Amino acid sequence: MSFDEVVRLGQQRGFFFKAAESYPNTPAGFLDYGPLGVGLKNRFVELWRRLVVKRDGMLEIDGSQILPRAVFEASGHLAGFTDPFVKCGKCGSVFRPDKLVEEKTGKGVPEKLGGADYDQLMEKSGVRCLKCGSKLSGTTRFNMMFRVGIGPAQEEAYLRPETCQSIFVDFPLLFKTQRVKLPIGIAQVGKSFRNEIAPRQALIRLRELNQAEVEVFFNPKKADDPRYDRDLGTVLSFRLPDGSDRSVPLSEALKDGVVPHKLAAHHLALIAGLYEAAGIKRENIRFRVLSEEDRAFYSRAAYDLEVRLSWGWVELVACNYRGDYDLGGHAGVSGGNFSVDDDGEKVLPHVFELSLGIDRSIFALIESSMTGEGDRRVMALRPFLSPTQVCVFPLVNKDGLQEKAKELYGELRESFDAFYDDSGAIGRRYARADEAGVPACVTLDYDTLKDGTVTLRDRDTRGQQRVPAAELPSKLAALVRYPPMRNEARAG
Ligand SMILES: [Zn+2]
Repeated sequence: MSFDEVVRLGQQRGFFFKAAESYPNTPAGFLDYGPLGVGLKNRFVELWRRLVVKRDGMLEIDGSQILPRAVFEASGHLAGFTDPFVKCGKCGSVFRPDKLVEEKTGKGVPEKLGGADYDQLMEKSGVRCLKCGSKLSGTTRFNMMFRVGIGPAQEEAYLRPETCQSIFVDFPLLFKTQRVKLPIGIAQVGKSFRNEIAPRQALIRLRELNQAEVEVFFNPKKADDPRYDRDLGTVLSFRLPDGSDRSVPLSEALKDGVVPHKLAAHHLALIAGLYEAAGIKRENIRFRVLSEEDRAFYSRAAYDLEVRLSWGWVELVACNYRGDYDLGGHAGVSGGNFSVDDDGEKVLPHVFELSLGIDRSIFALIESSMTGEGDRRVMALRPFLSPTQVCVFPLVNKDGLQEKAKELYGELRESFDAFYDDSGAIGRRYARADEAGVPACVTLDYDTLKDGTVTLRDRDTRGQQRVPAAELPSKLAALVRYPPMRNEARAG
């Protein structure tokens, strides 16, 4: 499925669509989720909660979206969270110089160049305004945080550009009140806001986005704790900065310095396992190892978990070894004490981060689960991710079948996300259910009235079996059950 087809399907089936679409000049980068999208998003987040957060005994918080200026002074966002832009002298359109040059030349441009470097590249490649062809201004920089004013005095504050700052700021309080020990992961799901200069691809680059972040705090002297040894046989694929690919057991990645320590290795395996459990094939998951030039200045090692979609590799999770940059920064600006006790040793913990983009992941799950030929499309989502779990159909709308079907629908609805449909031929109803990813359909016919059995149809095999209606709850429960926390596939 092409990018545009996914967007079209998303809109048609009510997974997601552009926010405020009836107004012509609504800026790009804002999305609404419809009913099926909400269902898929909630289930994916629940899978993350089970296979990452709960599995590793992490804490979960839900922090404020608006935070005071001082937080972003400490985090470095006030000074450094900027993107370069150029403006058309004639029509006023705004562009990113790096993207313009990339599109013109087909070659990658580093993200962290100075303004003069971008100007030189633009000059050399002859880049002009994409809208009107006029000359563009020199490069300036723009802070991507949304500023808000608190109260009548309009006290300076910002919408958070990432969820993790609350985790860092709250860390000392949580460490004390929750009576935990290092290493400890703290997780958060929520919205973040980035005033992107030119967001284009829906769901891939949003101005208001959903994140699921994990910050693991640890004693840097104990980053090679033997508790992580069980992950060392896991085989992961790496795309190295020199462009070569390597699929190796983590033990080897550690030996070669591709991964800095066992704690990092464990968390890379953990997050790859999440996407595998969600239905992404192992060969379509890789970690792009960022070179020193491509990493943020505080980052000691960085990996983008990428998933292969029909139009290329897309980054879904940023994995970052942030050292003590965050806690050190907040300690410096707030004057608070961010060091904690670790078996009698005073430690300013280091942080390993898994910053997951939920919207992108939803997009990737939809794209990678679509199968089918011609007009027949099936969204083969793992059943535990399907927003609608079961459809109930009467074969025909007479002789009491509708009433019987509605009655069964009412019962199933108590335990499952069920949908009732009695319009159109039965084949059309199956097709609609397949396209929406519904794993099971139940059809009631004349035999149902006689012996209480129904037809249970499987989305993926299209196989049908006759079962007593009374057995449906247990059969459906088994079908949509989440995978167990400690049993994800591990090769190697
Ligand atoms: Zn122009």
